[in-house]
Amino acid sequence: MPIRYYSTNRNLNNVVGIIPFTGKVSFKEALLKGQASDEGLFMPDTIPVLSLKDIQKLKGKPYRDTALLVAEAFLADEFPLDVLKKVVKDAYNYSVPLEEVKPKIYVMRLDQGPTASFKDFAARMMARLMSNCRPSGERLNILVATSGDTGSAVGEAFKGVPGIDVTILYPETEVSNRQKKQLYTIGGNVRALSVDGKFDDCQNLVKQAFSDSQLTKFNLTSANSINFGRILPQIIYYIYAYAQLSEKGEEAIFSVPSGNFGDALGCEYARRMGLPVAKLVMPTNENDEFPIYLATGKYNKVSPSRACISNAMNVGHPSNLARFFDLYGGTVDRVGKVHRYPDLEEMRRHIFSVSVTDEQTRETIRNVYKKYQVILEQHGAVGWAGLEEYFKIAPDKKLAISLETAHPAKFPEEIQKLLGLTMPLPESMKNIDQREGSAVSITNDYDDFKNYLQKNLKIKE
Ligand SMILES: *Cc1c(COP(=O)(O)O)cnc(C)c1O
Repeated sequence: MPIRYYSTNRNLNNVVGIIPFTGKVSFKEALLKGQASDEGLFMPDTIPVLSLKDIQKLKGKPYRDTALLVAEAFLADEFPLDVLKKVVKDAYNYSVPLEEVKPKIYVMRLDQGPTASFKDFAARMMARLMSNCRPSGERLNILVATSGDTGSAVGEAFKGVPGIDVTILYPETEVSNRQKKQLYTIGGNVRALSVDGKFDDCQNLVKQAFSDSQLTKFNLTSANSINFGRILPQIIYYIYAYAQLSEKGEEAIFSVPSGNFGDALGCEYARRMGLPVAKLVMPTNENDEFPIYLATGKYNKVSPSRACISNAMNVGHPSNLARFFDLYGGTVDRVGKVHRYPDLEEMRRHIFSVSVTDEQTRETIRNVYKKYQVILEQHGAVGWAGLEEYFKIAPDKKLAISLETAHPAKFPEEIQKLLGLTMPLPESMKNIDQREGSAVSITNDYDDFKNYLQKNLKIKE
């Protein structure tokens, strides 16, 4: 039976404003639609299982071998093998360092991609899968509203991908100069619009365009972070790290600094596929809705979200919580209302969560450097601090892997202040200041934006 995708809102009968989507769609449809018509998130109806032997065979092999195994397990019904091979080969052309900090305790650096954050892993594979499932002879046009890092990860991921053009909207006054430069110098099939307005205005313009029937002919698509096409690639590195580091099928602990929970969800799926995961540690920053839920059994989102130094994790209601709840038998909607609570005991068995303050985060960056000469930035430091908290309640020696989700050079001021070090830019970000390009300025008026799209987007390949 091929894997099909259902909506996390399928059971929401009698909820005002929601017409539950009770059908199922293919992966390709889930990929192009992004989310279900009832605003639920797509979930695979079957989780493929890998044998420990298949996983262990990946030891010493390149990253793309693990990527292919996972891609085949989910997608073999919908994509030919040679397409999947090419997708993973093109997507993963950079290294995935596993750094031993002390015996059996590692940091996995997911910061070697073109924009130096782990989001490159998901965006690059999704881009290439999308390119392979567009209607034949036609173009796809991706629209993304961004307040910073997502836009450049998506833009870089789609750069040069055949048959797809990307239009990025960013708020002129809310994005740093370095980030702007990253956005408007990508070039080629990726263009940037500087909007005279706020991030919310950018999001509204994009939303309006998606529901405008006069623009249907352009095959508008989002590259939204809730797309299942961005979750699937995030399963791969857990299996890769385990295969490289484990001996004799032992269990491993993973610690994943968490914001919207997409990254941690990859580990949850990896465990359900057969990876021996002893515990999934999901530390958050001061947005502590999830650790409080695990402790008390009551879920209340944090609103407005709290501004912490690990700013990519400033989320008061994680979008992928809907998927976690669904996997454990519950339902929570987009605005954070719980319709049915999941099995809390089962969740506690597999997941540990703790809130890490900014003060602890800074302390961790200092301590890890002093003790081990290992440089972490603030997101990775939340992951490490969470692992240390977990060891306080479960001190048995086990293989443990903490994820570093961004390159420390992306946060030069913080590193300079805490460690007195000047970080050299990673290879991928060198020359950023010399790159050329420009953005097109538009107002936040929908007609202005629509005009631009009608004049500039292409329909045919
Ligand atoms: C997005 C992001 C996170 C959080 O990942 P989620 O999947 O949203 O939980 C952590 N660190 C960095 C650097 C990020 O960009």
